[in-house]
Amino acid sequence: MIKDEVKIEIAKLKEKGIESTLAVVIVGDDPASRSYVNSKKKTCSEVGINSIEYALDSTTTQEDLENLIERLNQDPKINGILVQLPLPNGLDEARVCKKILPQKDVDGFHPMNVGMLTTGIDFEYSIKPCTPFGVIELLKRENIEIRGKHAVVIGRSNIVGKPLALLLLRENATVTICHSHTKNLKEICKTADILVAAVGKPKFVTADMVKEGAVVIDVGINRDETSKKIVGDVDFEVVKEVASYITPVPGGVGPMTVAMLMKNTLFATLLQNGLL
Ligand code: NDP
Repeated sequence: MIKDEVKIEIAKLKEKGIESTLAVVIVGDDPASRSYVNSKKKTCSEVGINSIEYALDSTTTQEDLENLIERLNQDPKINGILVQLPLPNGLDEARVCKKILPQKDVDGFHPMNVGMLTTGIDFEYSIKPCTPFGVIELLKRENIEIRGKHAVVIGRSNIVGKPLALLLLRENATVTICHSHTKNLKEICKTADILVAAVGKPKFVTADMVKEGAVVIDVGINRDETSKKIVGDVDFEVVKEVASYITPVPGGVGPMTVAMLMKNTLFATLLQNGLL
């Protein structure tokens, strides 16, 4: 498991007197953000990474938030900075992402890391966004061949769809990106060997959109209005009958994302200590 691998590496660093510390910034009191932050902090403690939470009031100004990030950028004891998104209305997420030093940007959202991912220049020294990176890792660990396969990604956000499409392309898949303006979505999805749903709509992917034997990766995390349970973007019960492999929600991509955050924090620590 990735978390066990990270734990071993963190223990080795500690023997050399090097600690790894993640700063987790949360603004406001959104319950989903609070639960993500808690789970990230818990995982940090499981693998031996120190986490320091900075909980800011929802009335925090852009300037105050950027000043905090600047302080964390300058602090040599902080190896990774994570600002939990979404931020309350009025705060500019793009400016916040740009403010974090690229080598401490454990979410991989800084334009520098995105540029390295896009061009492939110094790719091995870039920090990759956790969810897309986690999807690739999951496919590799499950021995699912990506090369030459037709991968269809539904969703084109900067957090999931776009970087995932680029990572799949790098793994030599033939990639199609779909979004809300895509025509013939069902027909396109039906040609996918690997179908990724990152839409944010419960049961969006139905069995008639999936080719027999396809690999289906469900990135979605949605709250079902009636059952109040967490559900993905894929109608799991019916699609599992068609797919050769499918990730569940909860489970699957969610825990993988947190594991990749640990891997990124370890990576950032190695990077800052000249150990790569
Ligand atoms: P966004 O809302 O930023 O993006 C959703 C994408 O889906 C957009 O590109 C949008 O198209 C597209 N879309 C919306 N409706 C349709 C439609 N009818 N047909 C085709 N495409 C459509 O969401 P995120 O990418 O941030 O997140 C997606 C999901 O993944 C959410 O459920 C989120 O909670 C989850 N998530 C899970 C993570 C994890 O750790 N597992 C991490 C991050 C997100 P357009 O661009 O045209 O608007």
